[in-house]
Amino acid sequence: MWIIIIVIPLLIAWWVATDATRRGYSKSTTLLWFLGVWLALIVFLPLYLILRPRTPRQDGMPRQEEYRGKTQVCPYCGKLYQGKIFYCPYCGQKLDEEV
Ligand SMILES: [Zn+2]
Repeated sequence: MWIIIIVIPLLIAWWVATDATRRGYSKSTTLLWFLGVWLALIVFLPLYLILRPRTPRQDGMPRQEEYRGKTQVCPYCGKLYQGKIFYCPYCGQKLDEEV
């Protein structure tokens, strides 16, 4: 019976470690999650599910890509443009990064 008490959290901890690796956690962080879930399943499993990043990183795409594809509005002419550019392609006004 005691084996179940050890093995089931171990399996769940193993799943968490695999999942953490897929989501881009470092080895030491993954190990901490693994130990935490194994030793204190009730505390660390919900914590992990809350804190983990939403989607697994599939190809290591940097955040820069997300930013570049963002649609923004020109404050001068109100037209939409894609990503980080310095001059509006429609009215030619200089655009601040903050806008
Ligand atoms: Zn414009």
